[in-house]
Amino acid sequence: MPSIFTKIINGEIPCYKIAEDADNFAFLDINPNAKGHTLCVPKKEVDRLLDLDEEAYLKLMAFSRKVGQAIEAVVPCERVGMSVIGLEVPHVHVHLIPLQSMKNATFQYKESLTPKEFEKVAEQISGALK
Ligand code: AMP
Repeated sequence: MPSIFTKIINGEIPCYKIAEDADNFAFLDINPNAKGHTLCVPKKEVDRLLDLDEEAYLKLMAFSRKVGQAIEAVVPCERVGMSVIGLEVPHVHVHLIPLQSMKNATFQYKESLTPKEFEKVAEQISGALK
């Protein structure tokens, strides 16, 4: 069965899209640790980060770097943190999280955003992509 992220990539489930290229897709996390929390996902469905072949891994990191730079350009934060967890969704994804403090990195603290706020920050980040 396709993962929920494959369904998002295929347009079967809605998302607040940020960007895509031939191999990777980025969208806002629906239950964010902070405004602008973004997931970068390889289109090829693989469960674990370290099982990606080297080329796919490097492409995902390069894609995540670009998206992270765009987040830093438009979301006020100390820096953008990167985590790979994968305990909930078995399809590799890089969390890019705007950090004000350690609290935003813990996955215990969550921020609620309205649909308009999600739309606006998604537009700002995708507009800042080089
Ligand atoms: P983990 O697998 O533990 O790295 O966490 C999966 C992440 O995916 C969580 O932060 C969820 O909020 C996020 N997530 C799950 N379903 C969706 C969805 N439909 N759209 C956006 N983010 C999602």
